[in-house]
Amino acid sequence: MSKISDRLRQIEENIAAACARAHRDAGEVKMVVVTKTVPPASIKEVIESGYTELGENRVQRLKQMAGEVAQLLQEPDPDSCIPSKVKWHMIGHLQRNKVKTVLKISSLIHSVDTLRLAEEINTVSGKLGTKADILLQVNCSGEPQKYGAPVGAATHLAEQFEGMENLRLMGLMTMAPLTKDKDVVRACFVRAKELFEEIKAEKFGGGEFSQLSMGMSQDYEIAVEEGATMLRIGSAIFAGMTK
Ligand SMILES: *Cc1c(COP(=O)(O)O)cnc(C)c1O
Repeated sequence: MSKISDRLRQIEENIAAACARAHRDAGEVKMVVVTKTVPPASIKEVIESGYTELGENRVQRLKQMAGEVAQLLQEPDPDSCIPSKVKWHMIGHLQRNKVKTVLKISSLIHSVDTLRLAEEINTVSGKLGTKADILLQVNCSGEPQKYGAPVGAATHLAEQFEGMENLRLMGLMTMAPLTKDKDVVRACFVRAKELFEEIKAEKFGGGEFSQLSMGMSQDYEIAVEEGATMLRIGSAIFAGMTK
C-alpha cells in the first residue's frame, strides 16, 4: 500500500467519525482531492485508490494536469467532451477570459462569486451548447477576503444565477479564514450552512441546489460536523511529497 492510499484511508476514517458525531450518513460527503502540488504519477495513484474527483485552483495547471492524466490513463483529450472517469473541479479564482478553457475541462466550478463571471459562464456555455454546473462562492468569515460574495449578497446573486439558462446552480462553496481558532472556523461553516438552507428553501436551482463545498486539510472534520457535502483536501494527502 502506498503512502497516498494510506493517508486517503485515514482521512476517510476521520470523515466517518465526524459523520457519526453529527449523526450523518458518510455517503453524503464526497472528497475532492486537490492535486495542485503533485506530479501526474501521484495523481494516478489517487485515481487507482478509487478517487476520481480531482481539484485544481489555477486554469493553466488544470489544463496541463487534465491533459497529462488523460494520457497516463490512455483516455481521450480532456476537452474533447467525451466522458472520462476523472472529474475535474475548478476550485480557485477564475478570470472571465479563461472561462472557455475551464468549461471544456471541468465538471464543476466552485468559485463563481460575481454576477459578471456568472454571465460570462452562461454566455460561453451557451456557445458550447452545454450547461455549466457551478457553485456560488461566499465569504462566510465576515473578514475582508479577496474572493467570495458577501453573505448579505448571496441570496440575491443566487436568484440572478437562477435566471441564466445555461447555468445550473448546484450549491455553495466557502473557505474558512486561516486561523487555528476552531471556534472561528466553526462559526464560518455554521453561517455557510444557514445560508445554504435559506437559498435551498427558496428553491433556486430547480432542486439541484444540493452541494455545500467546505472543509480543507486543516478543518474538514469541523466542516463535516457542520454539514459539508464536498470536501476539498490536498496537503493532508500529499504533504511532504515532492513535486
Ligand atoms: C489548495 C486548496 C484547497 C486544499 O487545501 P489543503 O489545505 O491543501 O487541503 C481547497 N480549496 C481551495 C480553493 C484551494 O485552493
